[in-house]
Amino acid sequence: MSMVDLNDEQLLRYSRQILLPDVDLEGQQRLASSRVLILGMGGLGSPVAMYLAGAGVGQLVLVDPDTVETSNLHRQLLHNTATLGQPKVDSARAALAARNPDPEIITFAHKLDDMALREQVQLADVVVDGSDNFACRVAVNQVCVDTRTPLVYGAVVGLEGQASVFRADLEDSPCYNCLYSDLDQTIEGEHQRSAFENCSGQGVLGPVAGIVGCIQATETLKILLGLGDTLQGRLLLLDARSMNFRSFRLARDPSCKVCGVAHAGE
Ligand SMILES: [Zn+2]
Repeated sequence: MSMVDLNDEQLLRYSRQILLPDVDLEGQQRLASSRVLILGMGGLGSPVAMYLAGAGVGQLVLVDPDTVETSNLHRQLLHNTATLGQPKVDSARAALAARNPDPEIITFAHKLDDMALREQVQLADVVVDGSDNFACRVAVNQVCVDTRTPLVYGAVVGLEGQASVFRADLEDSPCYNCLYSDLDQTIEGEHQRSAFENCSGQGVLGPVAGIVGCIQATETLKILLGLGDTLQGRLLLLDARSMNFRSFRLARDPSCKVCGVAHAGE
């Protein structure tokens, strides 16, 4: 990772962040040299992209095949009434550039095929999953395990959310698929699994998506900075109806079809 020099305007822009002993000038330079792949420019991807752009992450790769629709606007803060009908990645690019001209924004207005996904995951320091469907999550998890790339997971449905961090780059870290073999052991796990498998088209309270997206943005910055303890090895559950957060230990499943096999040959 090559370090970049910061000019006076940048020192001022990021001053409140650089003031943090955990960040400092070195951390800011690290962010400027980092690349994050964000899948989905919706209710989760909006706060993720806005905060990472604001924080001065050097390269943001945005992927979303959809265009902005009226029904998106109650929760997808990157987009607005004037950008209705535009590809979400174009609407996002304009909003992010207005927030901070520093990050290089790379966009894909289509679903990445397997080879392109693999290439983009390999180039990224962290992958953020802000997608709304199970098939995409499973595919992304597989590539992150294969390439040992950190994955920041989030999902939201109704007034409930969940988040975790899967560190395939670390020994013995669970993956997204382990989460399901783990959860399936309990009745509550069953509920979580069926509710969160496919959030597409279901009702959601806008700010609940915002909370989960902000958690994903925070965890991404922590991974890039090597700061604190992330949600690695834990699943965080939010019930906004009672406004309770709980977190469960999440162990790697040795027989996991995804990470079990990947690690077995080593
Ligand atoms: Zn696994």
